[in-house]
Amino acid sequence: MNGPRACDPSLQRGGGTSQQPAVVFRLYYPDVIAIDRYAWAAPASAAGLALAGLALWRGRISLVDGIVEAQGPALAWVLSHLVPLRGGAAAMTFGHVVIARDVECLEGSRAHERVHVRQYERWGPLFIPAYLAGSVWALLRKRHPYFGNPFEIEAFR
Ligand SMILES: [Zn+2]
Repeated sequence: MNGPRACDPSLQRGGGTSQQPAVVFRLYYPDVIAIDRYAWAAPASAAGLALAGLALWRGRISLVDGIVEAQGPALAWVLSHLVPLRGGAAAMTFGHVVIARDVECLEGSRAHERVHVRQYERWGPLFIPAYLAGSVWALLRKRHPYFGNPFEIEAFR
């Protein structure tokens, strides 16, 4: 982000050209990293978008801080009946897409699900196999496959 001085042309006259590469680097470097993160997580995001389509029926899809968030009664049914947890899940993340039962579930789980988004950005298409391996690892250590999963432990911190 730039302060208002960056918009004032009188302050930019006579600026040394030797400063320009550093400025260009600062402006574009974060964008390149962001594109990489989205691309790396894209397979999971694609699956999430397909599921998010269920929110078109009496639900809502919105974009919050670069993350697609979807909720509605069809997703509530999926999360309560098809997630192998007692009582189901309030929300679930697929890459840069979060699906939830309703608005309250989206808001209540946002901080937790954002950690999972960061995990997808690190692991990309390997995240789901790694997550399942985390549950097996927890079971082998006689811990709960969900609460003992290292990815969940990080997200609940
Ligand atoms: Zn979680």
